[in-house]
Amino acid sequence: MRTTLLLLLIIGVFCTNGKSQDKNYAHKVTQELASKEFFGRGAVNNGDILAARYIAMAFKQLNVSPIGKSYLHPFEISINTFPDSLSLKIDETELTPGSDYMVGGGSPSVDGRFELVHLDTTQLQNTKELAAELTGKVAVLPAIAEKDKRTYELNAEGYIFTRAKKLYWRLSDAVTTRSYFYFHTYDSLISNAKEVDVKINSVFYKDYKTANVMATIEGTTHRDSFYVFTAHYDHLGMMGDETIFYGANDNASGTAMILDLARHYSLPENKPEYSMVFMAFAAEESGLFGSKYAAENPPIDLSKIKFLFNLDMVGSGSEGIGMVNAKLEPKADSLIRVINEENNYFTDIRSGGASCNSDHCAFAEKGVPAIFIFTRGEEQPHYHTPLDKGKLALTKWDELFQLLIEFTERY
Ligand SMILES: [Zn+2]
Repeated sequence: MRTTLLLLLIIGVFCTNGKSQDKNYAHKVTQELASKEFFGRGAVNNGDILAARYIAMAFKQLNVSPIGKSYLHPFEISINTFPDSLSLKIDETELTPGSDYMVGGGSPSVDGRFELVHLDTTQLQNTKELAAELTGKVAVLPAIAEKDKRTYELNAEGYIFTRAKKLYWRLSDAVTTRSYFYFHTYDSLISNAKEVDVKINSVFYKDYKTANVMATIEGTTHRDSFYVFTAHYDHLGMMGDETIFYGANDNASGTAMILDLARHYSLPENKPEYSMVFMAFAAEESGLFGSKYAAENPPIDLSKIKFLFNLDMVGSGSEGIGMVNAKLEPKADSLIRVINEENNYFTDIRSGGASCNSDHCAFAEKGVPAIFIFTRGEEQPHYHTPLDKGKLALTKWDELFQLLIEFTERY
């Protein structure tokens, strides 16, 4: 009896302290960061700062050192937020924020009832004539019109952009406020409607304080050469006082990956040869501001970075991985493919070119060798909706983790 118990204890120690990932730790981190306590890790209720402190505490618990005096590296952004009640009624039907509609990130406060004018994009050829008719009214247009300058020559009181399917919220338009309010909704919910009742309470911050979180583990032989692992920890926050965008896959998953890597390298038996740096960025969702700030004000010498991996949305993997910027890093790209073939980690690896679609970009543009990895697969389908929550699949967690560890040993 006693021997069995001892044996189990030894196995237990091997399992947690061996050279490996800890999927349970990853589940714990993603579920906590994507819980309602963090309000979707945006500016509303300082959800982002609460998350930053949580990550700093996690690094501290792992005995991983801050870079400089503090784990937190503060900076400021401009951001429009929707912390209070929000309502959109089409004719007499009250719609649900986050599922029936998304409020435009740059919308100012408004409270009123407006007549709807349904238009198609061909009518944007006569905006001058239409403008008189649209004073004090709301234009309903297909979503494609949002990017068309002529749309705003209509001088409508507000705009409703419609889609057949797949609504998602974004905040890249929330760094400023507009002179009109706007929403995105489904064609089917508004096609025959005559009026709209709108209530938006927006709060704009010109200088909102947020912070990146950074930590490091010194290398045993190459102290002055770094592998850097980055992930944005912020998400979209709240749309009104009830709807939270939890951001489990986007990007509690990537944040958990850098914490799991920090946990691994913090163990005495896994001390890395090269110094390891972990950067959790804020304000990705509103325009990659955390990584831009970090690349402009780097806490380490950028020329000493051996390689940088950005991890953004890594909760799936059933269909393999995607690698942005890999075509510009052929040596890294082929090593990853060799490691994958030797171990059969992923069914498919897709290498892409340069793209400023996540936090690797600001570093790549400064000449830092960098690849952004995301996992592919339908098991986490709820991109930028309140349904990106709950326990993640983490289908290829172990494989991605091992791939990254092995890369740092062989590159
Ligand atoms: Zn996102």
